[in-house]
Amino acid sequence: MSRRAAALAAVVLLLVLVAAALVLVPVDVLPGAHPVVDAGRDFTPAQLAREQEFHRALRPSAYASLVLGLVVAGVLGVTRLGSRLVGRLPGGRTGQVVLGVLAVTLIGRLLTLPLDVRSELVLREYGLSTQTWGSWALDAGKAVLVAVVPAALALLAVLALARRLPRTWWAWSAGALAALVVLGSFAYPVVVEPLFHSFRPLAAGPLRTDLLALAQEDGVPVRDVLVADASRRTTALNAYVSGFGSTRRLVVYDTLVQTASPQEVELVVAHELGHAERDDVLVGTALGALGGAAAVCVLALVLSWPALLARSGATGPDDPRVVPLVLALVAVGTLLAAPAVNLVSRRIEARADLHSLQLTGDADTFIRSEQRLAVQNLSDLEPAPLAYALFSTHPSGPERIALARSWAAAQP
Ligand SMILES: [Zn+2]
Repeated sequence: MSRRAAALAAVVLLLVLVAAALVLVPVDVLPGAHPVVDAGRDFTPAQLAREQEFHRALRPSAYASLVLGLVVAGVLGVTRLGSRLVGRLPGGRTGQVVLGVLAVTLIGRLLTLPLDVRSELVLREYGLSTQTWGSWALDAGKAVLVAVVPAALALLAVLALARRLPRTWWAWSAGALAALVVLGSFAYPVVVEPLFHSFRPLAAGPLRTDLLALAQEDGVPVRDVLVADASRRTTALNAYVSGFGSTRRLVVYDTLVQTASPQEVELVVAHELGHAERDDVLVGTALGALGGAAAVCVLALVLSWPALLARSGATGPDDPRVVPLVLALVAVGTLLAAPAVNLVSRRIEARADLHSLQLTGDADTFIRSEQRLAVQNLSDLEPAPLAYALFSTHPSGPERIALARSWAAAQP
């Protein structure tokens, strides 16, 4: 293969990705405003202390699980342990790829299992989890399936292309992965979400009528609002939009419908309508597809490094024994990309917040419901920089409230 062509393609794709992010996602959702973030203004010392205590209990196992997962992936990827394991699996090339992805994923999950159990115990201690261990274990099993199936499909495609087109496989693979990201995002609401929740339409009544009227007023036609049976797992309050085109759906947690006032539900739905109006799922999908294609080009460059291949015990990108190395590189790449992904996500979320303020015109209810949501969900109110970069897909509660105050102050 041509290393120069792959390097050039990676650079061009990354530049297009950055340009697309700058065009599609606002750098500053409220230009000229200087929101003042002050957690102490809207949350009591007791609320702040409880949230901090919760995160002090949760974070060590979460970080340890992250680090151990990377170490396990690294050991299997860059020593001969992983390639020997895959080499012994049955089923020819296809079997070795599929079972190899499954084996590497299962080994990682089993070794981090005690830490994940510890995290679940903390969630229970703080009243956030309502799950039985049976249902928790079943979810963990389904999560493995959800991770393994797309990874195995992608790797099967990569290996088949690398075998037939040894010079240009990376370019075809980049296109194939981008297509898989788009297909996955489209199918997610109908294929993956039903594995974890069951959904029913919001019952007819004043709330449903109000929400559909709100969507109508917003110019975002919504056929239905779906309620997810989240209370079987959690006491957390949430809502989201997923899919696009014919799979687009607006979902609210039953926990929210049962405990929030109609104004609060309306505010949350107004935020989700903001996502729908801007096609944020499609924006995220397009950025993800570009990022995935760029990642394949970088992967091809790394896999053309003979010393690394020799260490891992694989002969090249067409050898099933390369699977553990690819999975290790994906794990490292995902972690390195997390701060940028979360930065983009937080800006998209801030834009949706602004939309809900503009649509409802009600900053007071916005601030009150942000307070209640953050307290109920034990959200990190003052995240440390590392936690913020790695885990915060949304602005913190105090940041969201500060945005609302800035918006309200700018209204005539
Ligand atoms: Zn959102």
